[in-house]
Amino acid sequence: MNDETHQDAPAEGAGDLSECQILDAEGEAIEVDVLGPWLSFLCEDCGHPVLAAALPNLRGSDPAHPAICRGCGHEYFLDLRWEDRRLYVSTPGHGD
Ligand SMILES: [Zn+2]
Repeated sequence: MNDETHQDAPAEGAGDLSECQILDAEGEAIEVDVLGPWLSFLCEDCGHPVLAAALPNLRGSDPAHPAICRGCGHEYFLDLRWEDRRLYVSTPGHGD
């Protein structure tokens, strides 16, 4: 049977992203480097490395705290869905 308890789900924004599938805003898997709550990926526009964290108030944690590409200024944030073990590297305003 499917046990719906979430005893291993950490508090939102405090987990290990290596447990998640990392996807872009379109739902396509992307190449990333993960270390705990930190995520490194390449800018979809210019290919410059971008570093973001799924930690409150740090760069990339939410649309109000975007990680900004130092190559082109593109803004990203981590749309974390722990319940699905998925993380979307999204753009503020995308899809809204
Ligand atoms: Zn860029």
